[in-house]
Amino acid sequence: MTKRVAVIGAGPSGLAQLRAFQSAAAKGAEIPEIVCFEKQDNWGGLWNYTWRTGLDEYGEPVHCSMYRYLWSNGPKEGLEFADYSFEEHFGKQIASYPPRAVLFDYIEGRVKKADVRDWIRFRHPVRFVKYNEDKGNFTVTAHDLINDSIYEEEFDNVVCASGHFSTPNVPEYPGFDVFGGRVLHAHDFRDAMEFHGKDILLLGSSYSAEDIGSQCWKYGAKSITVAYRNAPMGFNWPDNWKEVPALVRVDETTAYFADGTSKKVDAIILCTGYKHHFPFLPDDLRLKTANRLATADLYKGVVWVHNPKLFYVGMQDQWFTFNMFDAQAWWVRDAIMGRIAIPEDKAVLLKDVEDRIAGEDAGADAHDAIHYQGDYVKELIAETDYPSFDVDGACEAFFEWKDHKKKDIMGFRNHAYRSVITGTMAPIHHTPWKDALEDSMESYLRN
Ligand code: FAD
Ligand code: NAP
Repeated sequence: MTKRVAVIGAGPSGLAQLRAFQSAAAKGAEIPEIVCFEKQDNWGGLWNYTWRTGLDEYGEPVHCSMYRYLWSNGPKEGLEFADYSFEEHFGKQIASYPPRAVLFDYIEGRVKKADVRDWIRFRHPVRFVKYNEDKGNFTVTAHDLINDSIYEEEFDNVVCASGHFSTPNVPEYPGFDVFGGRVLHAHDFRDAMEFHGKDILLLGSSYSAEDIGSQCWKYGAKSITVAYRNAPMGFNWPDNWKEVPALVRVDETTAYFADGTSKKVDAIILCTGYKHHFPFLPDDLRLKTANRLATADLYKGVVWVHNPKLFYVGMQDQWFTFNMFDAQAWWVRDAIMGRIAIPEDKAVLLKDVEDRIAGEDAGADAHDAIHYQGDYVKELIAETDYPSFDVDGACEAFFEWKDHKKKDIMGFRNHAYRSVITGTMAPIHHTPWKDALEDSMESYLRN
């Protein structure tokens, strides 16, 4: 009987899984039946933008954490699909930091070409997954929102690709309940224009704080104050941007910091990260991990060590994104199709996890971390037929990117890099990022 595989989520990771199976079928292999459950009404995961926050029209938590005017925060040359270049999609080479709509179009282009949309059941959140010891398979409970019907189906394997940058980590600080302005998490931030002319406070010192602050600066916030818990980001910020030590408390109008200073602010944006959150998985199947490059409990970064019929794709913290999801998805496909053997001895699986964690911990800085994840991508690619590409070249693009940020945090997106897939140099974008207020696909692709 044909195997049945459930894929949970049709974001970049789930779509990589569909494309991996489709590419094997295109080469004549007999593939399992694939059913992809997606709770949203379209594919693309976080890249599928909605103005909504909170709950959607069905009462489901809104998945999107992206916002208007979001441009890629790393060079596209670090994430390019090895089997579908930007040039193939757009018919020409494009600038290196595409806005969200452009990347959505690119993600969509590959799966349209693969013709896998029919494999996806949209508006079908997975409610529960149970492993059946007697049958050696899984029962997946899904909710067909459109017909409001909850049903069960059995699968031989499950691939969880539901993402981990959607459920916000929302700390509370004394005085939030009396503060007169808005307090929101980055997950609910949608439009920097809301903060035009305002004094804003951001908490956190990672990508969301950097990018949401930069957006607000670009669209005319009066001042930006960023309170860090451990270490400041330390870039050469514009004059109206200040980094201060941790927030201690707020009152109706003012924030007070650990160094004794204070600042009157109009709004507070919590750029405090996200939680790995799988409310549809029971204890024996649920990944519990910090957001890091070597996750807990995943052999080869993808196989659930406590039940190797369950796989997770895209659960690591990310330097590499789309091409790493591909490397993982191709590997998972081959494990499911019996082309790659997963060791039967659980001790071997656990040792692999331990070694990966030690490998990451041995790194000293971001440079080592980029190499570490690049090596991981290379390791997986070497074991499948995913087209090999110059992963070291992609690492070089990341190093240059970090350097450009250090030199000019508001200007790093004005640089261009060489594709490691086609070898072509990207053009410099026609307008510096800080002046490009209109960021539609049409305007970005204009020469
Ligand atoms: P997601 O994109 O989160 O997709 C998961 C999918 O699973 C969603 O469609 C969701 O609806 C679905 N799902 C969840 N639960 C269920 C369920 N129970 N049942 C059915 N379906 C479910 N990466 C970059 O490379 N470049 C960037 O510039 C960049 N910018 C980012 C900006 C922000 C604000 C954030 C938060 C992340 C950004 N990322 C960026 C990283 C991002 O994580 C990846 O690009 C990518 O979206 C991860 O893909 P994914 O498929 O693993 O997860
Ligand atoms: P993150 O990288 O996990 O960082 C979370 C930050 O929150 C850390 O600085 C952490 O501080 C801080 N923090 C956590 N709890 C806190 C608390 N109680 N009080 C104060 N600070 C607290 O999360 P992220 O910045 O949201 O980034 C998530 C992902 O989104 C990344 O992959 C990033 O690339 C992506 N992203 C991309 C773009 C873009 O492409 N344009 C924009 C935004 C985000 P410590 O450092 O002290 O632990």
